[in-house]
Amino acid sequence: MLIKSPTILAVDDKKENLDIILDILSDYDVIPVTSGQKALQVIDEEDIALVLLDIVMPELDGFQVCQILKNNTKTKHIPIVFTTAKTDEESISKAYEAGADDYVSKPLKKAEVIARVKTQLKLKQTIENLEFLASRDSMTGIYNRRKFFELAIPVFKETPTDIFMAMIDIDYFKKVNDTYGHDVGDMVIKLATQTISQVIRQHDAIFARIGGEEFVLLLKDMDKKAILEILENIRLSIENLVVEHNDTKIKFTISIGATSKTQDSKTIDELLKNSDLALYESKTSGRNKITFR
Ligand SMILES: [Mg+2]
Repeated sequence: MLIKSPTILAVDDKKENLDIILDILSDYDVIPVTSGQKALQVIDEEDIALVLLDIVMPELDGFQVCQILKNNTKTKHIPIVFTTAKTDEESISKAYEAGADDYVSKPLKKAEVIARVKTQLKLKQTIENLEFLASRDSMTGIYNRRKFFELAIPVFKETPTDIFMAMIDIDYFKKVNDTYGHDVGDMVIKLATQTISQVIRQHDAIFARIGGEEFVLLLKDMDKKAILEILENIRLSIENLVVEHNDTKIKFTISIGATSKTQDSKTIDELLKNSDLALYESKTSGRNKITFR
């Protein structure tokens, strides 16, 4: 796999300063721009890992650009290192107030710029790794409950209707654990996760494990017929699975409860409650089935 080196955006109204930065960071992929406006445009279009930002620029100055980036959820994680000839305390504290991660003084010194850039990139990578771990279920690698709600709540708020939630629960899971042991139970959960992920892979879905043998799925931009087809595909795919364990062939099924957002739905908790009730109906009326309410 080819790993792309991080792209750094260098912003300065003086071209000679950009030339110095390009020379210092010759080992990196650097995009130089001469104004705050151009910087915002490039950040919108490219995957920028770090911004080296001049403070004094006509029109949009560095403080303003920094504030705009730090107030946008899409760009607030990008580290910003100010490059400044102003070493007075006031502008440095103003830079941090605007959301700066660090600063380097002009005239730029090669070792210092490289050290600051490396530190910020490393820190960003560490934060991303931690965020990834904190958002995943450790057994299956799919989203955990916390991340599910973090992603699903904005979708719920932004989409008037046509959001569907499905609760998926493995039938008689306790019996699998009791009969074959927890290792087999874990295999069943992993296999169920892989199978569901495979069925929904081309759809706009948020899929998470929210309990021991319980999963939740949020789907949008589809009609009810399409949703029911996907859910039936999931149910059938699981029914057809065979887990091999010490010459025993183990089969299992899932029950599904689904619901949709209506004009009356006020919170995502209502969807959760409704799909849970629907799941209960599936469980009490024979299992291995889908109930929609
Ligand atoms: Mg300047």
